[in-house]
Amino acid sequence: ESDQPIPVAFPAPRRSRQARVVWGQRVVTVGGDAPVRVQSMTNTDTVDVIGTAIQVKELAIAGSEMVRITVNTPEAAAAVPHIREQLDRMGIDVPLVGDFHYNGHRLLTEHPDCAQALSKYRINPGNVGKGEKRDRQFAQMIEAACRYDKAVRIGVNWGSLDQELLASMMDINSQRAQPWDAKQVMYEALIQSALQSAQAARDIGLDANQIIISCKVSGVQDLIAVYQALAQRCDYALHLGLTEAGMGTKGTVASATALSILQQQGIGDTIRVSLTPQPGEARTQEVVVALEILQSLGLRSFNPSVTACPGCGRTTSTTFQELAKQIDDFLRAQMPVWRAKYPGVEEMKVAVMGCIVNGPGESKHADIGISLPGTGEAPAAPVFIDGEKAMTLRGDGIAQEFQTVVENYIER
Ligand code: SF4
Repeated sequence: ESDQPIPVAFPAPRRSRQARVVWGQRVVTVGGDAPVRVQSMTNTDTVDVIGTAIQVKELAIAGSEMVRITVNTPEAAAAVPHIREQLDRMGIDVPLVGDFHYNGHRLLTEHPDCAQALSKYRINPGNVGKGEKRDRQFAQMIEAACRYDKAVRIGVNWGSLDQELLASMMDINSQRAQPWDAKQVMYEALIQSALQSAQAARDIGLDANQIIISCKVSGVQDLIAVYQALAQRCDYALHLGLTEAGMGTKGTVASATALSILQQQGIGDTIRVSLTPQPGEARTQEVVVALEILQSLGLRSFNPSVTACPGCGRTTSTTFQELAKQIDDFLRAQMPVWRAKYPGVEEMKVAVMGCIVNGPGESKHADIGISLPGTGEAPAAPVFIDGEKAMTLRGDGIAQEFQTVVENYIER
């Protein structure tokens, strides 16, 4: 037995520079002492102003603190200020991020209203051009960021890595006495592409604080290796995400695994979960997953949490699962109003348990909890408030009565 208490492990955040992503009065800080930010991306055609504005609004309401939109054609660039206008009219001040590839230099130069309406530009160094042209085109985009005072993400992706840089690093590797593994060369190329581009942006005049870096890959172990190295080699704010994570459970689990491991090491100042929506699944699901990752780690709180046991042979009926879902749905539905009305409500913990084995214990750990009767138990559901047994509910109206108890607790 040890006489030393086990330390409570909270991640020590990596100290980074702080970027400011601004729209009107809304300032979203990224890095430094800011909380880890959640962001997402639309999948509408940006030319569709109304459709895109509606999806941005949905993502913002779901909890996305920045929303990225594709800006790939002159028509899309022309649509951006109108999307911004629609959002402003709806009272949605979430900053918009423009995603540029291949022609960003032209779009930002020829569409000043677009350059102004965006709050941040994502530039992919692998898709800016080649040779001298590359430097000129990259400079045009950075100059636009300086002119309009915008943050920039240098977003490297291994699916579109700068091939000239990769080839030159392969050459260097072949001359090593002990050549690196091809994957290690790839990792280094990803990081070099990001850091060299960041330095080039600073040389052009962009404030180093306004640079955010990402090096996205689609393998969990690859992402961890790259970001651990990246975090040690620079102090830029880091955008973290597993690219092309995939669909459904696979995409959710892979993202949660990779992001959680890095977040636990204090790495990542803003996260995006890249899920492929399944047919009929809302785009907002990726925001829900991102929020859950941060809340599960105890880094941020967005919604009251409902602890529910999985149920087993002791569970008498589906009542308990139904009640857990009903309470969870109810709490989430109320949050848009409660968040403003009852500060701190998002920290609340509710337990809905299926029998006496863990029910009372778990309920006491929560702010408010209920233990439904399991098989062979008396048909009574004790309710615990702030760790003390407060009442016992019985009969068919338990679900509704418990919801009322929760509501009263929050109001009080
Ligand atoms: Fe089963 Fe009871 Fe444990 Fe729930 S609390 S999983 S019903 S033993």
